Amino acid sequence: MPDLQSVLDEIATDLKTASERGAVASYIPELAKVDPGQFGIAVLTPDGVVHSAGDANVAFSIQSISKVFTLTLALGQVGDILWNRVGREPSGNPFNSIVQLEYEHGIPRNPLINAGALVVTDVILAGYKPREAIGLILSFMRSLAGDDSIIIDVDVARSEEETGFRNRALANYMKAYDNIRHPVEMTTGVYFHQCAIAMSCRQLAVAGSFLAGQGRHPLTGNKVVSAERARRINAVMLTCGHYDGSGEFAFRVGIPGKSGVGGGILAIVPGKASIAVWSPGLNKVGNSLLGSRALERLAKAMDWSIFGP
Ligand code: GLN
Repeated sequence: MPDLQSVLDEIATDLKTASERGAVASYIPELAKVDPGQFGIAVLTPDGVVHSAGDANVAFSIQSISKVFTLTLALGQVGDILWNRVGREPSGNPFNSIVQLEYEHGIPRNPLINAGALVVTDVILAGYKPREAIGLILSFMRSLAGDDSIIIDVDVARSEEETGFRNRALANYMKAYDNIRHPVEMTTGVYFHQCAIAMSCRQLAVAGSFLAGQGRHPLTGNKVVSAERARRINAVMLTCGHYDGSGEFAFRVGIPGKSGVGGGILAIVPGKASIAVWSPGLNKVGNSLLGSRALERLAKAMDWSIFGP
């Protein structure tokens, strides 16, 4: 087996200077300001050691990666009845698509597209004020990452508030089917803030590590979720975590992963590694171009595809 640190160093050195880098998301104006020349990667192994390379300590907007954590939180709050309000099938459509909601009577295809994540956030909101729900999500991220310095980038949150018409449309449409139970502005407001959480690859790899450890966090020893729930969240990440690029990601990389339009990807190798990679330029379906390439190289070098060598 090759040495993990050497593999990461090699990937980071190559990709830091790659000429083809994809396009930084511009529909959220604040994200368009990010320097596309950055690349970072961090891997937490079950022994509790974090290996990293490149810009692994630079905080970026986690965006849709937050959906994995809000899903975990909502399942913890209400259990499997959550699945009455959101499906578990890949959408085959862009992350912000509205079309399937009509055929499926306001039930989103899965919790990792925008419509599904809005429902999950609406579930978390029950019994809380928006500010409290935002606090709950942020505290969850901080405790999983073991780092209280993690914050919400208020400029990104404001930028999303100002431009999030599609997300409001999704929420309004689902509200017509009573699948959004709070005022639309409340649910979208919390959602915009969870997307605007800023974290580094190192913090994210640590935060996601319970998914690689059958639900147990390797650094704290805490059981975050049951082994069954961790397995199921990983299954949803594999099938739905890259929107209409999920099949391609499974084909090329072969592990559960969740991307965000900030250019980050959290990827899980059950029993072996929690990986966070970041490069802001996106491919045509909105997933990090170099992040996906890096994971393809890493999984191949370490023999980490869940489908075998
Ligand atoms: N905040 C973004 C949005 O709602 C998240 C999308 C993403 O990361 N794919 O559009």
